[in-house]
Amino acid sequence: MEKIAIVTGASKGIGREIAKNLARQNIKVIANYNKSEEKAIKLKEELEKEGIEIDIIKADVSKRQDVKKMITYTINKYKKVDILINNAGISEYKLFTEETDEDWNRLINNNLYSAFITSQEVIPNMIENKNGCIINISSIWGMIGASMEVLYSISKAGMDGLTKSLAKELGPSNIRVNSIAPGIINTDMCKDFSEQELKDITEEIPLQKIGEPSDISKCVNWLINEKYTTGQIISINGGWSIT
Ligand code: NAP
Repeated sequence: MEKIAIVTGASKGIGREIAKNLARQNIKVIANYNKSEEKAIKLKEELEKEGIEIDIIKADVSKRQDVKKMITYTINKYKKVDILINNAGISEYKLFTEETDEDWNRLINNNLYSAFITSQEVIPNMIENKNGCIINISSIWGMIGASMEVLYSISKAGMDGLTKSLAKELGPSNIRVNSIAPGIINTDMCKDFSEQELKDITEEIPLQKIGEPSDISKCVNWLINEKYTTGQIISINGGWSIT
């Protein structure tokens, strides 16, 4: 029976590339989106031209009810979830002293609470099947911290904490949980950087280039096929941070 994968935030950027890549490997993809409906429809149509069928599902993954609906739809239709990619996320730049409670709630709910609820909703099915692979897309900043992105860094560090502890709790059920922590990747999330800022960043990176979404999807491929890795935070950052 084919594998079933849910990819959150698959309308754009890294999530879109992961969804395409999985679908092209004969994995049934449930591609989640929230605001970018047109882009999600385009993704579906693009794959249809290659003879590949995916499901696209609108759900705000910061809301329990939306997540419940998405997972229930998937399990009713396909009976199982083999792979969960917690990719949806937002970023914001602000001085810490200017952050508000609303900012805290927005960042933590979109980036961390979302991974908490998607995982909670799929894990019972994975435990029943004694099989599962959860990949959290965190960030270099969760590991080393970022000025002007304190809340974002907290949310991603929290995600890595979720990865490590869930890996221990779920290992005996044959469920692997890992994080991929990207450095800077060429997506809309970086569109606010000026050309000069991007040039300066590139110079700081030992491999002298910004990453592409495909650099992340290749690591996803490896993690879904490799069966003895769990609880790890895998850095894909061109050597920008070497710890
Ligand atoms: P992006 O191009 O801005 O895409 C973000 C995706 O997340 C979109 O598909 C968006 O969907 C989705 N999303 C956001 N909030 C959502 C919600 N509440 N419910 C459902 N979907 C939601 O950004 P990206 O660069 O691909 O980022 C993907 C992940 O990689 C994020 O978690 C980000 O933090 C992480 N990351 C990115 C970089 C980088 O340099 N790009 C570096 C480190 C980590 P809609 O547009 O449909 O709402």
